[in-house]
Amino acid sequence: MGNMFRFTGLLFVTLLPGVLAAQQPPALPALKQEAAAQVDGLQTLTQQMVDEIFSFSELGFQEFETSRYVTGILEKNGFQVELGVAGIPTAWVATYGSGKPVIAFITDLDCIPRASQKPGVAYHAPMIEGAPGHGEGHNSGMAVNVTAALVLKKLMDKHHLAGTIRLIPGVAEELLGTKAFYLRAGLFKDVDVVLGAHVSHQFATTYATGEGTWSGLVSVQYFFHGKAAHAAARPWEGLSALDAVSLMNAGWEFRREHLRPQQRSHYIVLNGGDQPNVVPSEAAVWYYFRELDYPHIKELYELGNTMAQAATMMTGTTVHHKLVGSAWPPFLNKVIAEAQQENIEAVGMPKWSDSDQTLAKALQKEIGAKVEGMKENVEPLSEPAKNPTGGVSDDVGDISWNVPMVYLMYPANIPNLPGHSWANGVAMAAPIAHKGSTAGAKVQAMTALDFLRQPELVKQAWDYFRNVQTKEVHYESFLSPDDKPAIEMNKEKMEKFAPQLKKFYYDPTRYKTYLEQLGIQYPTVKAQP
Ligand SMILES: [Zn+2]
Repeated sequence: MGNMFRFTGLLFVTLLPGVLAAQQPPALPALKQEAAAQVDGLQTLTQQMVDEIFSFSELGFQEFETSRYVTGILEKNGFQVELGVAGIPTAWVATYGSGKPVIAFITDLDCIPRASQKPGVAYHAPMIEGAPGHGEGHNSGMAVNVTAALVLKKLMDKHHLAGTIRLIPGVAEELLGTKAFYLRAGLFKDVDVVLGAHVSHQFATTYATGEGTWSGLVSVQYFFHGKAAHAAARPWEGLSALDAVSLMNAGWEFRREHLRPQQRSHYIVLNGGDQPNVVPSEAAVWYYFRELDYPHIKELYELGNTMAQAATMMTGTTVHHKLVGSAWPPFLNKVIAEAQQENIEAVGMPKWSDSDQTLAKALQKEIGAKVEGMKENVEPLSEPAKNPTGGVSDDVGDISWNVPMVYLMYPANIPNLPGHSWANGVAMAAPIAHKGSTAGAKVQAMTALDFLRQPELVKQAWDYFRNVQTKEVHYESFLSPDDKPAIEMNKEKMEKFAPQLKKFYYDPTRYKTYLEQLGIQYPTVKAQP
């Protein structure tokens, strides 16, 4: 008996330091290494997500299959999912863990009209003529963020790490249609750090105004109302809504010369009437007004409204307008970007195969771009532009003015492509996108760990946000209390193509990859003369 007591006592004493050590999570570098290894272990799932979402090809506000699929994976893995948030049927919030800090991942879901393209094929070859397609590469974003989140969940369970992981989809990003509504609904009010991810040909991050090529915008539709009449028998009895559209556009083109060079504005005619022998009683035009900051965007918006009003005075018509999208130009957090940059450098560029390079070069040649293949190196963190020129917009900008945020560009596409076109879809269900998404997921998970494990870094990010970024500029939403998300948009287009698209949905239970399912040789390039 006595011996046994002595023995267990001894055992207890010798085991005690070991038990205590086991309760302490590993140091941050070891945690990051473990995260990267786990992301590698999920490569098949990452590839399946990239391919599956590519095959759904859903336009903004109609991402029903995509959202069902992604939330299904998250729910199965123990995340709590709330569907239909902010009055948007395809929007959701998925959460794991509890307490502070709250780290939110965001990335887009939607695709581009008429961008249907066979993956792995280096020339224009639509899967379905005229159908939407992932000609922006948004199909890879959820693969990045979900992979990172699943790995973080495992590490949080295993090492008892405190904190909350939240995933939010960038529904209808191509319409700049949701983020202001997310903020109005309070989706970010308890969030400490936002880690956005977007497809790129680079592996890079940035802070403040970055390269200076971001604009903010409002997206506004003008609906003119006139009076129908027989266009030949009694044209004098009609009032043409199309005339008003034409005059508004002509007015805008003249005025354009006298606007700041930083503005960018463009429009499409939404409705030009029904047939020439009927004076159009209804016509509509859709404008994007882009500028560098809130006051200048507001000014353009008001000028647009004035032009529309003036067109009604010339034509005897009436007009009403609808705001269908808005975005602040993004401003990214220096503290998070610096942490993220270290992780980008630690992960490094994926190893591109000869096939990847052949596809990239053949596509660059095909579209008349500079032929240089894939990027081999990550980008350094550069100083933000002193004089931004403006250019593209993304409604994550609104989030960046409410919570410290960074935007990871992960290397899942080919350089020198035009954007928003079939060419940008070529690599997006091919090994280039699969490898780039795995690399991106590593950086997302590692950067989340930086902020989960270092409360002082969260504090520093907020110091930059409060004392540098928002010292003089304060967020004001472009939304009026009556504005509602434009959830009806793209409904008809999607309904038209859904039956054909369904035939091409990826089935990972039968095929290892989507290329295999489609029977596409990788890469497929035109024969060289
Ligand atoms: Zn995008």
